[in-house]
Amino acid sequence: MNVANEKANLFIKQVSHFINGQVVAPSGERFKDVFNPATGEVTGAVALASAEEVDHAVQAAAAAFPSWSEMAPLKRARILFKFKELLNQHHDELAMLITREHGKVFTDAQGEVVRGIEVVEFACGIPNLLKTDFTDQIGGGIDNWNLRQPLGVVAGITPFNFPVMVPMWMFPVALACGNTFILKPSERDPSASLRLAELLKEAGLPDGVFNVVNGDKVAVDALIEHPDVAAISFVGSTPIAEYIHTEASRRGKRVQALGGAKNHLVVMPDADLDQAVDALIGAAYGSAGERCMAISVAVAVGNTGDQLIEKLIPRVKSLVIKNGENLDAEMGPLVTAEHKAKVSGYIASGEAEGAKLIVDGRDHAVYAENGFFIGGTLFDDVKTDMKIYKEEIFGPVLAVIRVPDFASAVKLINAHEFANGVSLYTSDGGVARAFARQIQVGMVGVNVPIPVPMAWHSFGGWKRSLFGDHHAYGEEGVRFYTRYKSVMQRWPDSIGKGAEFTMPVAK
Ligand code: NAD
Repeated sequence: MNVANEKANLFIKQVSHFINGQVVAPSGERFKDVFNPATGEVTGAVALASAEEVDHAVQAAAAAFPSWSEMAPLKRARILFKFKELLNQHHDELAMLITREHGKVFTDAQGEVVRGIEVVEFACGIPNLLKTDFTDQIGGGIDNWNLRQPLGVVAGITPFNFPVMVPMWMFPVALACGNTFILKPSERDPSASLRLAELLKEAGLPDGVFNVVNGDKVAVDALIEHPDVAAISFVGSTPIAEYIHTEASRRGKRVQALGGAKNHLVVMPDADLDQAVDALIGAAYGSAGERCMAISVAVAVGNTGDQLIEKLIPRVKSLVIKNGENLDAEMGPLVTAEHKAKVSGYIASGEAEGAKLIVDGRDHAVYAENGFFIGGTLFDDVKTDMKIYKEEIFGPVLAVIRVPDFASAVKLINAHEFANGVSLYTSDGGVARAFARQIQVGMVGVNVPIPVPMAWHSFGGWKRSLFGDHHAYGEEGVRFYTRYKSVMQRWPDSIGKGAEFTMPVAK
């Protein structure tokens, strides 16, 4: 069934910027094609902002900051409540915008929108989240308390793979805390961001509080270099995360930069193999593997390897791969022709390095279509020195690696440079507990393949999967988007006479 939505069409012709409460015509000449990955057709052109356009957005956000930050948190929350209602109303329209530019299946895109809405729901509790500690009478008529104050103009730079959810990991919390925001979405699927900006305006957000500048490295560098941008949240690949963390930190900005991943799922001999296979199929091939929490390595412990491969083969071969607008599609295309070529290159390299190519996605009938499709791919006997193990492929390619025991599985995973998510399938509570405590990875699932934390917990990896101190959203997000201040106060009637030259202590 085709769930075409007319409204979705309105926003994919020319995608410009949203500054100071309105869509503004691009002033420059630089554009980039936007594709429908399922058909391979160009469906729009996204404007690539110049440094001057970024500066206009920063100026608008800076001008909006004083009154927005002074607004009572409850009033800010009420605007977010209204925004949440609008998101519910426009849920399918947003999902269709995602499917048509990203390629993920519509039902998956609907789930993405819901995970974004959950962060808005969390941010609606901001009056409580900004409540701080108060100590009455630390001594001699003096009280001490804390404030959490907004940073000012903050920017978010986001990847292509979650064009609604990842921006919404950032801006609902940032806005609720009293900051004004500039979003620089991925140039590969930019339309949904503009729709979010329109819905925020409709919800009553004052002009200038939320702005979108589309663009590439030029816009990103302009945000990093702009003296009035106080903080940058980034989500994307590790080399860019590292670059942004280094360059923005060097300029005194607060930065959180979430990077790439290589997520393992460990199958213990006592695991229910059918459950583990279901988990692997969904987590490795869902969204064509273009998720930072996708499972790309199955670690078969002990004698589980042969049976696991046997059960995986028919499932990988029978994946329903088609245009994601079809509601029975299980997997859509990759995002671009370049990315399809990159993933194909990884498959060739795995083969050349001696891994056993059990199912080759390049042999699938969809590979020859105009859309950027590739079939599900399965490798066995993968070794740790192979490129397909060391690097993030970000496609529907699952590598099976065999280890003798639990300790070797933990050692293997802890040696990888990426440490975003991990999962363990077992029926042994003791092993599960040891795993959760010993594994050096930011997000752990036990019999849960993709343990993306809920909105009131926080999301983030370790090692080269996150640069910075704070994880995204949840209470970590509130900490990232606020500055901590301690206030100590007394009144004249409790002040003794005379200057004090000794270290003040409680009296
Ligand atoms: P990407 O790094 O290519 O792009 C991310 C953002 O950086 C985009 O907005 C892009 O315009 C910008 N950018 C690209 N090249 C740049 C450059 N040279 N200088 C400055 N800015 C630049 O990432 P992507 O391909 O859009 O997304 C996929 C990557 O994101 C994967 O590595 C995936 O693991 C990662 N990701 C991580 C998380 C997480 O939470 N850790 C979540 C989603 C995606």
